[in-house]
Amino acid sequence: MKLNSPLQVYKYLPQTNCAECGETTCMAFAAHLIDRSKKLDNCPPILKEAFKKKYIELLTLLAPEIREITIGVGERAKKIGGDDVIYRHQLTFFDPTAFAYDVWDTMPEKELVERVNKISNFKKFYIGKFLRVDMIAVRCVSGDAAKFAAAVKKVNETTTLPLILCSFDPAILKSGLEVVKDKNPLLYAANEKNWGEVAELALNYKVPVVLFSSDLDKLKSLALTFGEMGIKDLVLDPGTYPQGKQLKETFERFIKLRRSGIKEAQKDMAYPVMAVPLNAWLVYKDTAAASYWETVLASVFTVRYGDIMILHSLEPYAMLPEVHLRETIYTDPRTPAKVAPGVNQVGTPTKDSPVIVTTNFALTYYTVESDLSSNKINCYLAAVDTDGIGVEAAVAGGQLTAAKIKDAFQKANFEFKDKTSHSTVILPGLAARLQGDVEDVTGLRVMIGPPDSGRIPGWMEKNWPPKPK
Ligand code: SF4
Repeated sequence: MKLNSPLQVYKYLPQTNCAECGETTCMAFAAHLIDRSKKLDNCPPILKEAFKKKYIELLTLLAPEIREITIGVGERAKKIGGDDVIYRHQLTFFDPTAFAYDVWDTMPEKELVERVNKISNFKKFYIGKFLRVDMIAVRCVSGDAAKFAAAVKKVNETTTLPLILCSFDPAILKSGLEVVKDKNPLLYAANEKNWGEVAELALNYKVPVVLFSSDLDKLKSLALTFGEMGIKDLVLDPGTYPQGKQLKETFERFIKLRRSGIKEAQKDMAYPVMAVPLNAWLVYKDTAAASYWETVLASVFTVRYGDIMILHSLEPYAMLPEVHLRETIYTDPRTPAKVAPGVNQVGTPTKDSPVIVTTNFALTYYTVESDLSSNKINCYLAAVDTDGIGVEAAVAGGQLTAAKIKDAFQKANFEFKDKTSHSTVILPGLAARLQGDVEDVTGLRVMIGPPDSGRIPGWMEKNWPPKPK
């Protein structure tokens, strides 16, 4: 039974309200355990011998509905699964879908290394952080164990990304495992024919393993068998068919798996689910069409409920939507994406440079910052603390006010008379109605900028420097 209310969790805590966890009461700490914003180990008293039994019980009772599995080792190890809800708005989704891109063992070495480097080094800056991809799936195409092992060795020498070893032949999987046995790779895959030998590999090498069957009863039977053998780090692949009626059935299988894991609490099916959008390449021969449909499949199963997927296309038009959509689905709806409030320099501002106001909603802030820096506009950019709400809504909701703007500059120790020659501040066009208030509260001259930051360069040409009053 999963605990889902603070009162239930509270019964297992020491109940001393000692505040060592940073919360004033055990009940407040219990609420943080439920929404996973704190960990049980943040309560030092419960780690003591006297509470050992309750600690262990609570760890089990707080475990996510969908088992959380780690693939790989070190800094780029990746956790998958770990979800508690069917819909994101019920809490949030945890552990963003892991994207693995394939290489294969018949690739010439130079091409193999180039492709691995391209996958490992992919990054795209987006609202304050770099979006990356997560794994490399090494596929055996040759049918030759020695060749597969050599490819795995070369990939392992080239990247620290976690690996998926792909073959239905246990002898080939074993040859790859021997090369990276200390790297916790994911084995792909056990099916109704090879399951005994693959289970033996998973047990001997202590690695996670994918179970494959497009028949959910057979998949359940495999999961039960592996579970009874003590192999719990499982991933379920219910088959990804890229077209027509079979695609509809694929979609239904993903929904059934997640519902049975969470809503019906079937622990033997509560494992992360794998999608294989790469299968689009089996159907579509044209590169653009295959990339397009692969991206469509990746998008569908990022939303419903792929925890990990294997992909092929490294085209920017395929990868960028994939990583952006994942980022959107896996943001926490309880916490708006925001940046630290403050007054930041863009470029190298002088006393004659403008001072521009925006909010600390991350998407707004980085859009404005990017429009300024890409147009080489040296300035100061103030991110006013609006609890991560954008300009228009913050003005309407009272999170962006003259007092807040004044406060932002005061907290940043930004003195206009020292830093500027003009004592002028530029408000976003969507905050124009604050002009009078800001002038009264700050004593500054207030100019109204354009309604969106893309128009700042044109606005600057016409309006900056400000004409003397
Ligand atoms: S540290 Fe533990 S015992 Fe102390 S208040 Fe927090 S939850 Fe309660």
